Amino acid sequence: MSDSPGRSVVPEPTSTRAAVDPHRSVSRADLIQWDHAHVWHPFTPQAAWLNDDPLIIERGEGVYLFDIEGNRYLDGVSSLWCNVHGHHHPRLDAAIRQQLDRMAHSTLLGVSHPGAIELSRQLAERAPEGLSRVFLSDSGATAVEVALKMAFQYWRQKANPEPQRTRFIALQEAYHGDTLGDVSLGGLDAFHEMFRPLLFPTLRAPLPHCYHCPLSLKRPECGMACLAAVEKLLVDHPGEVVAVVVEPLVQGAAGMIVHPEGYLKGLRELTKRHDTLLIADEVAVGFGRTGRLFACEHEQVSPDFLCLAKGITGGYLPLAATLTTQEIYSAFVGDPHSDKTFFHGHTYGGNPLGAAVALANLEVFDEEQTIERMPEKIEQLAGWLEQFRRHPHVGEARQKGLMAGIELVQDRETGQPFPSINKLGARICRHARKHGILIRPLGDVLVVMPPLSITATELDELMRAMLLSLEEVTGCPLS
Ligand SMILES: *Cc1c(COP(=O)(O)O)cnc(C)c1O
Repeated sequence: MSDSPGRSVVPEPTSTRAAVDPHRSVSRADLIQWDHAHVWHPFTPQAAWLNDDPLIIERGEGVYLFDIEGNRYLDGVSSLWCNVHGHHHPRLDAAIRQQLDRMAHSTLLGVSHPGAIELSRQLAERAPEGLSRVFLSDSGATAVEVALKMAFQYWRQKANPEPQRTRFIALQEAYHGDTLGDVSLGGLDAFHEMFRPLLFPTLRAPLPHCYHCPLSLKRPECGMACLAAVEKLLVDHPGEVVAVVVEPLVQGAAGMIVHPEGYLKGLRELTKRHDTLLIADEVAVGFGRTGRLFACEHEQVSPDFLCLAKGITGGYLPLAATLTTQEIYSAFVGDPHSDKTFFHGHTYGGNPLGAAVALANLEVFDEEQTIERMPEKIEQLAGWLEQFRRHPHVGEARQKGLMAGIELVQDRETGQPFPSINKLGARICRHARKHGILIRPLGDVLVVMPPLSITATELDELMRAMLLSLEEVTGCPLS
């Protein structure tokens, strides 16, 4: 089946029934057939996809999603870490409708529009101190790519240029998006190793992960030796480092790895002391996930670049922002003869519909006191994770705010993983649909990342269904 998408069995995609209303007038069987014939799904093993009964989602309401047959699923990963205030939120819907009545798109290349102006002003106002300049684009990958190129160009155009700065420091198991610059920073072999011949070399700092410490040390006696290792890289490469790039507090794609407290602040001090830049990729952790609007706030850190996407529109539309300081920006302002322009842009960057819903997203944070109402939910999630830790195959359950990762291991004492061929994480998540929840793992780490608007009852529903799925698939109850 996987290698014969079979043109002959595929109905004409231009059938009038489909064109009129794809959701109502096309049968489920047709949709599946066309999906299997034409849709190439991201980060999805296609052979398994072609042999599975696909879930086709068509509607959302609050924390719930509904498939084309009307089955309801609690959206346990916020539609890939994006949704904030729930689906089909009246305020967010209205913001898009209002903007649509004016205009759907206009460019930011040499022209402006009110939504981009107001959004930039508000982001600068709410971001950590000093980040007053906002470059809008359309995805997490672009937000980071923009920061990399701006940082690189900055050193070449500042008052006393330092063109010998060509290296970036990134962390082991880093994930910063899928464009080649971001992949160069990437440290996840499964995603990134294939492309090494195309990539620029990156200096690699050890993963600050106390459960599987790459330095084989123990907290707190280690004195955060992982931080000292970053300093050693800076000392060994004097004047060569463009920037240190980090996912503040939690490395999402690596498996929701929560850094030890003080690590981010330590990085900020090191980058200041060694006169280089700090790029904070808050694409996953931004917009409330950690319990603050921005993760950097937890350690009173102001980075030189702040990269935002995913939750920026409440999970509605593709939009992203790269914030930086006046000092960096100034290096791009020169007399018309010295060409200091940042020759970079994404055609739909700062799109007016996206900007409108991003503004409404911020307003809903205020109106619904989203951040203020998180501590109780964070506590509740912590209580559930305490229960999961009693399961014989849970090695570590880690949490920051409303983000959590439950790492499954064969042997809890040694941390020995299950053979990856077992695909245990994927099997549990697939099974969980039977219990009305939608979750997606990272290898054998079960991810918990519901919309911040989730209620206490809904959070219980999500965690109970997850626990049940874990017990049923492993065949092991809580100990
Ligand atoms: C998701 C993610 C990205 C990439 O964002 P896209 O919108 O998928 O391009 C970058 N950095 C981090 C930390 C992410 O989690």
